[in-house]
Amino acid sequence: MDGQGDLWSAGEGAGAGPRAAGDGAPAAGKGLGSAGAGGRAPAERPAEDVPADLEAARARVEALREQIRHHDYLYYVLDRPEIDDAAYDALMRQLRELEQRFPELVTPDSPTQRVGGRPAAPFARVEHAEPMLSLDNAFSREELEAFDQRVRRAVGDDVAYVAELKIDGLSIALTYEGGRFVRGATRGDGEAGEDVTANLRTIRSLPLRLRDRERPVPRRVEIRGEVYMTFDAFRRLNQEQEARGLAPFANPRNAAAGSVRQLDPAVTASRSLNLWVYALAGWEGDEPAPRSQWEVLQTLRAWGLPVNPHARRCTGLDELFAYIDEWAERRHQLPYLTDGIVIKVDDLEQQRQLGATARSPRWAIAYKFPAEKARTRVRDILVSVGRTGALTPVAVLDPVLLAGTTVSRASLHNADYIREKDVRIGDLVVVHKAGEIIPEVVEVVKEARTGAERPFSMPERCPACGSPVVRVEGEAATRCPNAACPAQQLERIRHFASRDAMDIEGLGPAIIEQLVGRGLVRDVADLYHLEPEPLAQLERMGPKSAANLVAAIDASRGRPLRRLLYGLGIRFVGERVAGLLARHFGTIQRLMAAGPDELMAVPEIGPRIAESVVIFFRDEHNRQLIRRLAEAGVEAAAGAPEPGSAAARAVVAAATAAGGPAGATGTAPGGPAAAGAPGTAAGGVAGAGAGVAAARRAGAGDGAAGAGFVPGAGPGAGAGAAGAPAAWPDVPPEVRERVAGKTFVFTGGLASMTRDEAQELVEALGGRATGSVSRKTDYVVAGEGAGSKLARARELGIPVLDEAAFLRLVGREPAGG
Ligand SMILES: [Zn+2]
Repeated sequence: MDGQGDLWSAGEGAGAGPRAAGDGAPAAGKGLGSAGAGGRAPAERPAEDVPADLEAARARVEALREQIRHHDYLYYVLDRPEIDDAAYDALMRQLRELEQRFPELVTPDSPTQRVGGRPAAPFARVEHAEPMLSLDNAFSREELEAFDQRVRRAVGDDVAYVAELKIDGLSIALTYEGGRFVRGATRGDGEAGEDVTANLRTIRSLPLRLRDRERPVPRRVEIRGEVYMTFDAFRRLNQEQEARGLAPFANPRNAAAGSVRQLDPAVTASRSLNLWVYALAGWEGDEPAPRSQWEVLQTLRAWGLPVNPHARRCTGLDELFAYIDEWAERRHQLPYLTDGIVIKVDDLEQQRQLGATARSPRWAIAYKFPAEKARTRVRDILVSVGRTGALTPVAVLDPVLLAGTTVSRASLHNADYIREKDVRIGDLVVVHKAGEIIPEVVEVVKEARTGAERPFSMPERCPACGSPVVRVEGEAATRCPNAACPAQQLERIRHFASRDAMDIEGLGPAIIEQLVGRGLVRDVADLYHLEPEPLAQLERMGPKSAANLVAAIDASRGRPLRRLLYGLGIRFVGERVAGLLARHFGTIQRLMAAGPDELMAVPEIGPRIAESVVIFFRDEHNRQLIRRLAEAGVEAAAGAPEPGSAAARAVVAAATAAGGPAGATGTAPGGPAAAGAPGTAAGGVAGAGAGVAAARRAGAGDGAAGAGFVPGAGPGAGAGAAGAPAAWPDVPPEVRERVAGKTFVFTGGLASMTRDEAQELVEALGGRATGSVSRKTDYVVAGEGAGSKLARARELGIPVLDEAAFLRLVGREPAGG
């Protein structure tokens, strides 16, 4: 076949996304009204606001081009757009209208003169067999009718169309030679793109070799399609991004584009990308080529390529409109993003007759669904507390239908966002779905204000635990600093149990909420003390599922260090970083002892991650948590080395040197910790933790391990809790029972011991000491000069102990009492 465009990539409209194709946009404003123009673009003005004279127009045109170039850079090069597509389309539309009114202002470098896209630097430039054009857009039925009339004028009334879902991903061209995948390229500027063969090869749905049993494969052919990401994969990726302290992707399209353009194909491989193909180009060979778009799809499918199953051949406008109406609703049930319908003239001979303009083919058009925005009222603004303590303001809305689901809440992100948008309780607002996933308040309809709206300010205390919140300079987030905050606990437990962390099957949010709510579990270490009987009393649980849950928790004790590290939810430590740290340091002791420089010596670990790890393990609550996990038999917390790490080999060597398994490694979990400690001078902190565990077990009859280990851990433990069990070695069981699992808050000074000593005492008995009073506090111990915490305890009706009562509770009769 010859000539341009015999089998052009019609789906491409999909490809470059709305940006490349949307510049024609008579439509951005249509149906959106002020909402469309209201996005985040600072310079948007109503389209009517057109300068009257040439000089004013020139200034406006230059300003618009500058903005568009800036947003192009953010969108195409950085994959980090600051405005949504509707806002961008509005800018393009204004520029185009001005250029139409003042044609003398059109220059070759205007964004309106570009096909779209630009190759990013690091990848080799590759020419496409035939240009990959953008599609014109249609935003209304009238525009589709006009398209149909143009087609009929050119080729007559015997015309059929193929309607396909427009996938919002990254367009690519795949070259197969002799049926083998030899090259993959991005769309780039339409003439040439970037060579991303190695990255595309990692997409599992992309066949490296075509099947030719049903239909012959030509000598050489270019196949075009769309790389995309499902909503699930997108969510997971963004969770990972946030865990690593990286900016989340704005939508699945950007996530897919960013993933394909990774320099390291291994990163691409980890990103769960998918592929749909829909077009052929550059057919070389004597085999008969398909004669219609419909046949193209069948051929691609026969070759073993992924072809979207929802395409339909339509014989007239009525059938087309029915298809559009159907998918305007059904698309919300798809696991990936579609933002329109691509309509192609089916007959390829007719396509040839129709040809193309410089920018787009005349035989295809992309119908775009209206932007998903809705107006509703803000009833209230609540604040939720996340795993890291970040306070997120959430707008409670009058329920409104948006993108196929009823929305009653929307994120307001942070205090800056609320201030910038000036969102008040009672406001009429415009909400949309970012990437059709998370509803977001984009704009306040200020004209609708009555004066009864109430401004909102972030609370000064955590709504869950009452701790004064902190705001770190340079960070947008306001945080609850209380590690024992129940809201944070709930989120942390959920994260700890998640599939990629400790993978505790059956421990879902509903169960965790009950466990935390009933005080059965306050942190992840408590999970390991759960008994089947109380579990069976929970809602939607029975004896059988309780037993299963206990078994699942039990099974998680042996998870490797990298999963434990990820599960701990250390800021900026996502799955990947956790794996790097586990492999490099081998045991949790070595990691805990590492300073910033040692951490930064690990490839990919920068100062921010290093600082976060150091801060986490310096925190006494976190050190105690590791100790308690070790005590509960979580092997990695007790120092079991990461499989395959140098430490794992060292343990084997040490065990051998010590005369066999009976020595160092005989009694897990104390054993591996003991083996790990000598390897690192500063291993004492966690070693001490294991020591506490061992010492407590010693009380239960496991003498040698504990007694042998605690003294050795002493120097490293310093001011840690390791000394506590030694100081109070003989605790009657009834005392332990009274204190274990209880939360204490100390306020004021005690006469018989320092506050640190008192806290260590409580913790040595299995209780916990926290810094602030909440409903979850069991006792407030009030000494000399007790202040606001005492008042708060009275307010909440929490038992207050004086020093004498406290000493009796912990089994130490007060002097003279
Ligand atoms: Zn809190």
